[in-house]
Amino acid sequence: MITGKTKLLGVIGYPIEHTLSPTMHNAAIAQMGLDYVYLPLPVPPERLDAALEGFAAIGVVGFSVTIPHKQAILPFLSEITPEAQAVGAVNTVWKTEAGWKGTNTDVAGFIAPLRAYDNWGDRAAVVLGNGGAARAVVAGLAQLGSPEIHVVGRTPEKLDAFAGSWKNSPLDVQLNTHDWDELPNLMADAKLLVNTTPVGMSPQVDRSPVEPELFDKLPPNSIAYDLIYTPNPTQFLKFAWERGATAIDGLEMLVRQGAIALEIWTGQEVPVDVMRQRLKQHLGLDR
Ligand code: NAP
Repeated sequence: MITGKTKLLGVIGYPIEHTLSPTMHNAAIAQMGLDYVYLPLPVPPERLDAALEGFAAIGVVGFSVTIPHKQAILPFLSEITPEAQAVGAVNTVWKTEAGWKGTNTDVAGFIAPLRAYDNWGDRAAVVLGNGGAARAVVAGLAQLGSPEIHVVGRTPEKLDAFAGSWKNSPLDVQLNTHDWDELPNLMADAKLLVNTTPVGMSPQVDRSPVEPELFDKLPPNSIAYDLIYTPNPTQFLKFAWERGATAIDGLEMLVRQGAIALEIWTGQEVPVDVMRQRLKQHLGLDR
């Protein structure tokens, strides 16, 4: 219920109509019995500055940040956590006495389902794609202590820029970049294979970024992790699972990055299971 004291949270993006965040956050807020509301906030790129001033004026507590603002918001923040600096993008912002502070909870969200597995110091990782999400994945793998990260990309200039961007990182990132032609040779070392490309999500639901027979090359006890959360499972995860790999989908990352943000804003323990269940319900995955 909205009261005269209800505190404001939200998500800025443009467009924002398809966001899943309000569903997930408001379910948790209700369960926690807090007087907060989480709203979709459409902010056109050229109005970001004005929006932030307005948020400060009306006492917005904090907000999530999505495309196209994840990097554009950096100059407007008074403080950026080392994690967000390493990724070069912010997805969570909150008000402090000094101004707006930003972090990136995608890194911890990505790592969360991997915490159940150990021996990260022995696991080479292969990351497919080198866009925004791949940055959080690489930062997460470095935090886990992955000894070797192989990033596979299709655009050489972007791949070079991606590799270069980690050179002065505070994180110890052991990164090699590769063309897709090299993937068959990388598979045998891929204790962890992560898909960060959109191949496999709508409208490409029948596609996998990796041919089924290549999964035969994976070493024993390997993990295939697809950042895509719908369809569930993706073809990529189906192929991997059929060939004996452990399959992890993107839903948990989505839930965990949101839960960490809500904990930052409210200072309270967050019911992760409620967020997960509401999201599954919303996506029709609870049947
Ligand atoms: P992005 O910045 O656009 O990056 C996409 C990457 O995939 C780029 O490297 C792109 O290569 C590559 N790519 C696109 N189409 C490809 C194709 N047909 N073949 C090979 N490579 C291809 O997108 P993003 O923000 O990183 O998001 C990527 C995926 O992660 C999306 O499916 C998104 O839904 C998912 N995601 C999930 C979560 C979660 O919480 N579960 C969080 C973030 C993102 P070029 O740059 O060379 O075009």
